[in-house]
Amino acid sequence: MTKHAGGAGGTAMDIATPTRTKDIIRKHGFTFKKSLGQNFLIDKNILDKIVDAAALNKDKGALEIGPGIGALTERLAQEAGKVAAVEIDNRLIPILEEVLSPYPHVSVVHGDVLKTDLAKLWAERFAGCSEVSVVANLPYYVTTPIVMTLLEQKLPLDRIVVMVQKEVAERMAAKPGGKDYGTLSIAVQYYCVPDIVCVVPSGAFIPAPNVDSAVIRLTKREAPPVEVSDEARFFRVVHAAFTQRRKTLHNNLAALVGKERKGELAGLLEACGVKPERRGETLSLQEFATLSEALATAGMIE
Ligand code: SAM
Repeated sequence: MTKHAGGAGGTAMDIATPTRTKDIIRKHGFTFKKSLGQNFLIDKNILDKIVDAAALNKDKGALEIGPGIGALTERLAQEAGKVAAVEIDNRLIPILEEVLSPYPHVSVVHGDVLKTDLAKLWAERFAGCSEVSVVANLPYYVTTPIVMTLLEQKLPLDRIVVMVQKEVAERMAAKPGGKDYGTLSIAVQYYCVPDIVCVVPSGAFIPAPNVDSAVIRLTKREAPPVEVSDEARFFRVVHAAFTQRRKTLHNNLAALVGKERKGELAGLLEACGVKPERRGETLSLQEFATLSEALATAGMIE
């Protein structure tokens, strides 16, 4: 367990307690916006688990998405050398400036993370850091776009430790063969090794969300686990395979290559060692990679 300034019992500085959170909210007359996924963490033990999973130190940087009133930001500030936090809600900016005033190495950026130039932010905020992690209690209405943006932009980041809806964490970490395995599992596992750090009950937040949550760590891979000559094509095949989950791979891929080539497609699947009647959810990343290369070689897809 990481030691931090607050210690096990906490101090008056800890934001993540029900009393302090309520005090800050009352003082600033803040009201929660459900549409922005505003569920603030009030459980110090969960914060410890998140921060421990991020393995920060003073040489490292941390990007937080959605700092809220700064409960996690404060802990990141105690552990990391540089912290940047992007918050969309302008009502929270003065609160963050006040609660984070003891930490000059923290910068708060007002904006929508999905519209933020992250490469520029990296260059401006994390120069000289040995590693950078994204650490956040994500707004659930945009979890997948945020995670995919972070991965697809190929930012120099080492790990992502995020609180997400429990079902989403399970989908990210799912192995082939079950109902949770799909395009999100494959996209995440192409770039990262996922592990679920802990499951978090709704009582750890104010206001309590209607769903259980989980902290998941995505450790960025040095290189993808499969070789593909064109990533966009690989993901097009993956998406096509899951267009209608109950349909066979053969039927779903026929919609991609054209119905007139359905017979040829069956032969190609067999030649790749994949029975045409299998469903997308049973295929490993390697099988998808083999298939997308074979489809391209056969001139069946661009
Ligand atoms: N980090 C705080 C905590 O753990 O208590 C708050 C987490 S709350 C689940 C999500 C936060 O993300 C809110 O502060 C919300 O205003 C912010 N947010 C929502 N959409 C955002 C976006 N597109 N870009 C940046 N911040 C966003």
